[in-house]
Parts: sequence; structure tokens; C-alpha cells
Amino acid sequence: MIPATARKILRKLPAVDSLLQHDALQKALANQPRKLVVESIRQILAEKRHFVLTNPESIEGLSIPTEDLIVEILARLEAISDYTLRQVVNATGIVIHTNLGRSLLPRQAVDRLQTICRTYNNLEYDLAEGRRGSRYVHAEAILCEITGAEAALVVNNNAGAVLLTLNTLAREREVIVSRGQLVEIGGSFRIPDVMRSSGAILREVGCTNRTHRRDYESAINDHTALLLKVHCSNYRIIGFTSEVSLPDLVLLGRKYNLPVMEDLGSGCFVNLAQFGLVGEPTVQEVVEAGADVVTFSGDKLLGGPQAGVILGRKDFIARCRKNPLTRALRVDKMVISALEATLRLYRDEVQVLQDVPTLRMISLPPASLEERAHHLAAGLTRSADSDAVQIEVRQSHSQVGGGSLPGQYLPTFVVALRSSQMSTQKLETSFRRHSPPIIGRIESDQYLLDVRTIQPEEYSIIEEAFAALHSNA
Ligand SMILES: *Cc1c(COP(=O)(O)O)cnc(C)c1O
Repeated sequence: MIPATARKILRKLPAVDSLLQHDALQKALANQPRKLVVESIRQILAEKRHFVLTNPESIEGLSIPTEDLIVEILARLEAISDYTLRQVVNATGIVIHTNLGRSLLPRQAVDRLQTICRTYNNLEYDLAEGRRGSRYVHAEAILCEITGAEAALVVNNNAGAVLLTLNTLAREREVIVSRGQLVEIGGSFRIPDVMRSSGAILREVGCTNRTHRRDYESAINDHTALLLKVHCSNYRIIGFTSEVSLPDLVLLGRKYNLPVMEDLGSGCFVNLAQFGLVGEPTVQEVVEAGADVVTFSGDKLLGGPQAGVILGRKDFIARCRKNPLTRALRVDKMVISALEATLRLYRDEVQVLQDVPTLRMISLPPASLEERAHHLAAGLTRSADSDAVQIEVRQSHSQVGGGSLPGQYLPTFVVALRSSQMSTQKLETSFRRHSPPIIGRIESDQYLLDVRTIQPEEYSIIEEAFAALHSNA
């Protein structure tokens, strides 16, 4: 039985229909589907009922003004009608942040995507012959032009590229790989598990820290299909280590007539040593060194859309293309158009560093980062006249991310905040709950905004969030 107090409060709750007549909700109906407005009302009313029925000790004298209900209903409406995939401001300084969407597409790629997707196109049509063509020809020529490879195939992502290649070249046969190279990538996906799903049998050789040429050589037998090297992209083994270089592996492959594959992970086309980053071979170098097949991602250091690129010998690529798995991993016109536009930017080796956002952010010089940090700090100071938050510009370190260049940091400048009125944790939460959300990082009890990954047009968003912080405090 419902107690009398509760019954009295519940009876006063307005009905859905009467709430719908309210001006604010009538206005909302002009922009939102009726279904969503009604659902927001239902949810809020149901929550109020639940509260009243389950908190008998705290409802004495409770009244729920309709105005308050309306405020909550509108907030709920905004929450349930919003996109789930939304813009966020990346203030972490991690350039290729897998959780935040990896690479920003170059403007040229976005323009191309728009053009191709608003019109019909020759995705699978051979314009010269006037008959059915292949979607796989589109990015191939430019990939071969840039990398020097004989042939290329683009699939959904690099994990797919590895799966397809191994399934094509080594199903039910053995692939020799160093123990030190069997890695786990983000989201607890393990490369060895992906490889095993291809039907290939992994023959792990060597030890975690050291693998020698003789380890590969003594594992070769009649069932061997492939020698595989996995680029240590997201971790580093340091100290007493050795691995067999690609040229040495290629020599071994030639001796036994076995193909050599390298899963490069990132797939970088420019030499990053000029920015103080070492150990990331370019795709061109790996092709030049004689790898028969090379795989890498489209949205890591390449800075394009999510994709997996397979480069290599013509006969191997042709076999991959005929594999039914290719159909399951195929890319659509959006990926192809954005990838082709991104790749074309690499024809100008200097301009590409400005045009591809991933490379632009990696190559930002310290002086420019310092200037940006001061600019952002000044904006924050202006936007909230308060002594409650200390705003400081200081040096810190950014990371490339995306499993590239582990253990290597790029010197950067950050705006560091600390509040006397709220914990640094709370500061982080407030920025994260802003719309659009701002994702920074906490270090030595300061909230850091790393300007390397903040786009200049996003400074005003951060200023707004900062000002809101003060009006709510
Ligand atoms: C990132 C990575 C992959 C997976 O690439 P996706 O494009 O994310 O599927 C595979 N291998 C290595 C070495 C990687 O670094």
C-alpha cells in the first residue's frame, strides 16, 4: 500500500499531456521529434515517482514545482537526442589518440570525401572500357608511386591486412616470428590472436629480449610458409637485446625461397628523425630493404582514414585480392576517397608536414608551442576574473601515441591549472563534462592542457568551459 504522504505528492505530479502544453516544451517540439519529447517527460516523471515511493522518510512536505520538472525534462531531452559520437577537444598532447579517433583528416581529404559521397562515382566502374571495374585500383597507383612497391591493396584496417595476408600466404602452414615481437595492441587485442585466426600456425622463436638469425633458420622446415617481422611499435625492449634486421631476414628468406613479411603497424612515409624521433623506419625503406609484403594502418602516422594497407610483390597481392576474406574486409568509397586525397599530399615532401594534421602536430616547433600556450593562458585569464585558479604556462612532454614510437617524448608547452576551490580531479571532470567535452591530463596535481593537440579554433571552447567553471563554483 502506498502511504498517504506519497500518494498526495504523486497525485500532484502533472500528466504527460499537460506538460506537453507547456510553452518550453511546445518550443522543443518545433525542433525535436515528438517521440523524444514524450520519452523525456516519461523518464523524468518515472524517476520522480520512484524517488517518492522509495524515500518515505525524506518526502514529508515535498513539492515538485512544474518549472523544475520542465528544466529536468529539457536537460534529459538534450541528453537523449544528442549524437553519441561527438566532437571532443584533445588536450592530452597524445597526437594519435586511439580513444579520441586517431588521426584528424587533412582538409583536402574531407573535401574529397564530400565531393565523392554527394555524387555517383566510378567506384567499381572502368571508365575506359565502359564496364565493371575494381574498387581496389583507386589508391593502388599512388601507393606504389610513393613507396616504390610493385602492388598494393587497401582493406578495412591493419589488423584486417595482417589477417588477410596470413590467411592467403600461410593458412595451415607455419609462420616463423620472434617471441619479442608478439604484441598486444589497444583494447587488449593481441596480434598473435589475430594471426592465429588467419589459420596460420605461429612458430615462435628466440627469447623475449633476444632472437638470432640461427633461431629462424633452425625453425625452417617443409611446412614453413613465411618469415614474419612485427615492428615493435607500441613498446620497446631495452637492455640486453637483439633482433634480426629486415635485410638479414630477407637474405634468409631468399636462401630458403620463403617470403618475408613485415607488419609495420604505423606506416610512416616521412623520416621523423628530423623531429628527434628515432626508430620508426619509413615504408619506403622497408620496401627498399626487400620485404615481400608490408602491412600498416591508414590512420596512424600516415594521418589518413582508418584503413589497412598491404604492399608488396604483384603475385602475392593478386592472391590476396582473390581471397574471399577481401570481400569481408573491403573498404568503402569514403575510405578510398579520403585515403587517396591524403596520399596525394605526400607528393610534396615539405607541404605535407603542414597539410596532414598528424604530421603538423608532431612537427610543431617548441617556440610555436610556447606562444600558443601563452595565448591560451591569456584567453583563460580574460574569460574568468578569478584568483581561485592558478594558471601557469610550463614545459612538459607530448607523445605521438597510436602505438608509435614508445618511450619517446616530444618537448611541449602546457597550460597548467590548479584550483584552490576544487580538487584537480573535479577540474578534470568539469572540463570533460563540458559540451563539447575537453580531455586533458592530470600530472603532479595540476590539470594540464597540452597545446600540441588543441586546434587554435578550439581555444574559445576551452575559455567557455573555464568561465562556466567559475559561474558554477
Ligand atoms: C596498430 C597496429 C596494428 C593494428 O592496426 P589497426 O589499423 O588498428 O587495425 C597491427 N600491428 C601493429 C604492429 C600495430 O602497431
